[in-house]
This record gives sequence, structure tokens and C-alpha cells, in this order.
Amino acid sequence: SIRRFQLGEKSDISVSFEFFPPKNDKMEASLWSAIERLEPLAPNFVSVTYGAGGSTRERTHRTVARLVNETGLHPAAHLTCVGASRGEIDAVVRDYRDLGVKHIVALRGDPLEGIGAIYKPREDGYAYACDLVEGIRRIGDFEISVAAYPERHPESPDWSFEIDNLKRKVDAGATRVITQYFFDNDQFEEFLNRVRAAGINVPVVPGILPITNFEQTVVFSAKCGTSIPDWLTRRFKGLETDPETRKLVSSAVVGEQVLDLVDRGVNEFHFYTMNRAELTFAICHMLGVRPVAPEKQAA
Ligand code: FAD
Repeated sequence: SIRRFQLGEKSDISVSFEFFPPKNDKMEASLWSAIERLEPLAPNFVSVTYGAGGSTRERTHRTVARLVNETGLHPAAHLTCVGASRGEIDAVVRDYRDLGVKHIVALRGDPLEGIGAIYKPREDGYAYACDLVEGIRRIGDFEISVAAYPERHPESPDWSFEIDNLKRKVDAGATRVITQYFFDNDQFEEFLNRVRAAGINVPVVPGILPITNFEQTVVFSAKCGTSIPDWLTRRFKGLETDPETRKLVSSAVVGEQVLDLVDRGVNEFHFYTMNRAELTFAICHMLGVRPVAPEKQAA
């Protein structure tokens, strides 16, 4: 582990941050205070999620529009296939293009009934993420990111299907892969080896979740197929009523994970911020990603 000690003011690490669209004024205020705190770190891009089944279509659009109009950040809008016709989705894509958005995160999405229900493509819709990527390509010259799963997507039958599906998305025009969050770096490395062996050469950016609430993380991980290693459970055990210590432990856990990935050669990270700046800012600092003066950001 030599690299971690070399990280300083001139680190070659690039980062991106993911937010979700706020539901009310209070959440809006806390989102924007997180954005203000993180903007000087000059992220490669910031992405805004799209609620299940398109439930946040307007709110996602509004948040992305505000990022375009009020910040120097490069927003990426998430978009899913679920619950809309191809025509409706194309209209959303054209809206983003006209707004000046250059990056879309193209996803299939989960069934309207929730994660775990059987997904049935709509006849007049885009069926899978690879179809959506193709549709977006027809509309404009976007950067397109797609999702991948170091522990496999819960519905995928085996690794060969999983990697073939990712290859279809990249062959359709995706320019970057962002992974589901994970806690076992060995699994990520094995996944990356499979991806490269399949001739997929676009950047594969690990999605990193700084844990803000361990219990919720356990519940959500079971649904989305991320395993919780025993060592991680042991670290949070006994801290249920001790939020201060939990926060310190979270910071150590994410620091350790990310620096180990740096040692393994990773130099790009995507943070699931949960609309909070604190932990993400701290880990960026550890990575040598420091605030940049506004004129440098514009350059
Ligand atoms: P796809 O790549 O289309 O594939 C998922 C599964 O569909 C495959 O494993 C396979 O079982 C099946 N499949 C694919 N192609 C075929 C085929 N040709 N025939 C039969 N079966 C097929 N969800 C949201 O609702 N909003 C978001 O903003 C959002 N953001 C995300 C960001 C990231 C970085 C990640 C990792 C996930 C995100 N998700 C989001 C969750 C995502 O929508 C779900 O994980 C969804 O179940 C799969 O989406 P996908 O784009 O990976 O699907």
C-alpha cells in the first residue's frame, strides 16, 4: 500500500456525487447545502436519481435544471424505462438536451410494485437499459453511464448473462459504467477482471456508499443484492444508540474501503451521498481531492 501515502494536493483522483431529488422544502434546503459544500471539490459530474417508475420525473428535472442554471457543475440525469412509452421517454431526453444537459444515466429501473416483483417490459416502452441507451443515442450526443453489479444483478441468472448484458449496453453506446455499492473490494476486483476479459474497455467507476444509517443499509442491501460482510456488522454492533461513534466508524469504514481501492489502481469514484456532504467531503479530502477556486473549476 504505497499509493495511499502519496495522495496529496495533486492527486489524480476524480470523483462524482449522486443526489436524489428532494420531496419537500426542508429536504430541498439540506440538499442544496450539501451541494454548496461539495461543489468546490470540482466533481467530474453530479447525478440526480429518478424515482422508481418515474415517480420523480418533474422533481428530477427541476433539480437538474437548477444545477444547470445556478452552479458550474456538470449534471447527469438518471432515467429509467419503467412506466412510460418510448415517446414519453424520448421527450424527457429532448428536454434535457435542450436544457444543455450532456450526460444521462440510463437504467431499466425496478418494477412499479417494488424491488423483487417480476419486471415486465411495456410493449410501447424501452424494455431494458440497452434499448434505452440506443434510444438516447438517436436523440443526441450524450455521455451515457449505465449500471453494473459487482455481485450480479439479483435477476441475472449467471455471470455470463450479467457480463453479456453489460456489453450490450456499452456496445449500444454507453461511455461509462457505474457500479452498485459494495463493501467487499475483492468482489469488485473479480468483477472488473470479468468485465475487462469480455473486452469492455470504458471506465468502470465503483459506486461507494458512505453509511449514514447502518440498519437502513442492511435492509436496502438485501433488496438490491449487496452483501453485508460479517466484519461490517461487527463494526456497527452495539452502536445502535450512539450516533456520534457510528459516524466516526462510518468514516473509518469508507476511508479504508476507498484507500484500498486506490491501492488496487482505482482512480475514479462515484459517491452515493444520500444528499449529505459530511462523510463524502471527508473521504474526498483523504483522497487528496481538495476545494478548487471557482476560476479553475470553469477551466
Ligand atoms: P438492465 O441492464 O436492463 O438489466 C437488469 C436485468 O434485467 C438483468 O440482470 C436481467 O435479469 C434483465 N434483462 C436485461 N436484458 C434482458 C433481456 N434482453 N432479456 C431478458 N432479461 C433481460 N433505479 C431507479 O429507479 N432510479 C435510479 O435513478 C437508479 N439509479 C441507479 C444508479 C446506479 C449506479 C445503479 C447501480 C442502479 C440504479 N437504479 C436506479 C437501480 C436499477 O434501476 C435497478 O438495479 C434495476 O433493477 C436494473 O437496472 P439496469 O439498468 O441495471 O437494468
